Amino acid sequence: MAVSALQLFKLLPQTNCGECGLPTCLAFATQVVVEGVDLAACPYLAEEAKALAGTIQSQQEKGVGRKRDNLAIALKFLQEKVAPVDLATAAPGLGAVYGEEDGRPFLSFRYFSRPVQVFKDEVRYGQGFAPNPWDPILLYNYITSGGQRPPSGRWIKFPELPNSVSKTKTLLRLQKQLAEAVTGKVTAFVRSARELGGEPIDVTPEATFQLIFQPLPRIPLLLVFHEAEPEENFAAEAHFLFDAQVMDFLDLESLLFLVERLMEQLLKKLA
Ligand code: SF4
Repeated sequence: MAVSALQLFKLLPQTNCGECGLPTCLAFATQVVVEGVDLAACPYLAEEAKALAGTIQSQQEKGVGRKRDNLAIALKFLQEKVAPVDLATAAPGLGAVYGEEDGRPFLSFRYFSRPVQVFKDEVRYGQGFAPNPWDPILLYNYITSGGQRPPSGRWIKFPELPNSVSKTKTLLRLQKQLAEAVTGKVTAFVRSARELGGEPIDVTPEATFQLIFQPLPRIPLLLVFHEAEPEENFAAEAHFLFDAQVMDFLDLESLLFLVERLMEQLLKKLA
């Protein structure tokens, strides 16, 4: 069976160290599976990932990755799922606006602060947005979630989400990486984060800064950062908090992808 980018990503160190030449492990996994990049470019492969090298090489040679079969299969599945959805009815619950173009229904809303139009068979992004091949998968997952309720306004940590134990490690790594990247660059980071739509908010009084992002209309993400206090032996910390009703709209893997996409953009802007 072909290895998907998501399967490979789960086996990568998820430290986003950049030594493979790509900014994140997710980008690397996607490039290996979809674009035929050499798996050995990551010097930190665990044995489980190395064990996939033969399968990946063979699917690369057969052109499976280059043909984007994995993405195409996932996309086809979700487009079939979205086909019977009445977008006009679903729009208010998703915080979207319903529209039609030559009789083709679509939803428009903001994705990472940029306008996006999602048709049942096509996604159009606003000018200046550099899409990742997995963005349509995430957007169709959002649309087919059936979520209706607006955010509750109650913030919770990732481990409080149901069945999140096995994925908490991934989020901890992302948070650690972000904390390290922001240390000593708080002002520059906040400035670039605000350009990406981050709005200051006051939820945790003792935080160095806290910013709320709105990657999808019903999915706010709260980033709370505490600067290091060397005299107290306290390292810098970054935490993502989620609305208590977030699972109405996305599964855990999609939610982690959303966090990683946000980080990718924040770190790129800070670089
Ligand atoms: S794939 Fe490997 S080299 Fe690339 S960012 Fe992840 S850990 Fe670093």
